[in-house]
Amino acid sequence: MKPVEELCLACGLCCDGSLFDLVKLEGTDDARKLKALGLPVAVSRGKAPVARFPQPCAALCEDRSCRLYDNRPWQCRAFECGVFKEAKAGRMTFAAALRLVRQARRRADKIRELLRELGDTDEHRAVGERFHRTSERMAAGGADAAAMNTFADLSLAVHHFNLQAFKKFYTKAEATAPGAKPGA
Ligand code: SF4
Ligand code: SF4
Repeated sequence: MKPVEELCLACGLCCDGSLFDLVKLEGTDDARKLKALGLPVAVSRGKAPVARFPQPCAALCEDRSCRLYDNRPWQCRAFECGVFKEAKAGRMTFAAALRLVRQARRRADKIRELLRELGDTDEHRAVGERFHRTSERMAAGGADAAAMNTFADLSLAVHHFNLQAFKKFYTKAEATAPGAKPGA
């Protein structure tokens, strides 16, 4: 296994709902086959319907490998985050890339821990969606001082994670349209 592939097995952030909320399918993807393989593909309503499936991805295994690696959608084949690209090109050492990935993972884990403390235990939803929902709940009022303090910690944790994501993980294309996992 190449070191950069080991990096992804130590990370998983582009599949587990930390960096993205969903994966859009492209024309070359076989939506029916992907659905049969266990991905909950649904078509969005609107003027330009898009087939997509939510993150955390149903194909992500405990060891952060992809259960559908050989059949994964085009976006998943094409996507390489900034850290991966830098390490692959030799502009960053593998050790430095691993440190960044581990730091980002710790931050994402902290966000999930704080969300749980605030009563959001919906681990099957993307972090961004859960934070948005929790923010709306807090803005509606009724939270006590302890919960408000936890929410302040959560907001700070999300801010630090997003800062690192925009600086190191998203590349130019994603920085303009975060949310969906993009291709190259
Ligand atoms: S975010 Fe980057 S390092 Fe992490 S799994 Fe995705 S491509 Fe690999
Ligand atoms: S299909 Fe595989 S590569 Fe794509 S989001 Fe799911 S786990 Fe990640």
